[in-house]
Amino acid sequence: MNTEVEVPVDSEIVFYCKKCSEVVEADRIGQKYVYKCKTCSSKEIVFGTYRSIKGCFMKR
Ligand SMILES: [Zn+2]
Repeated sequence: MNTEVEVPVDSEIVFYCKKCSEVVEADRIGQKYVYKCKTCSSKEIVFGTYRSIKGCFMKR
């Protein structure tokens, strides 16, 4: 069995939830640039390229 983990490429636009502290899927709300986390339903979503999200939020 081969379990493939999806790793976004650096130039891909991703959504990052500050509450979940991870890259998540998000729903766009209305016509503004407001997004809601599909995991925890918070709106503390930031988005950008995976590279920039990694650099800003995923320090380990
Ligand atoms: Zn979340």
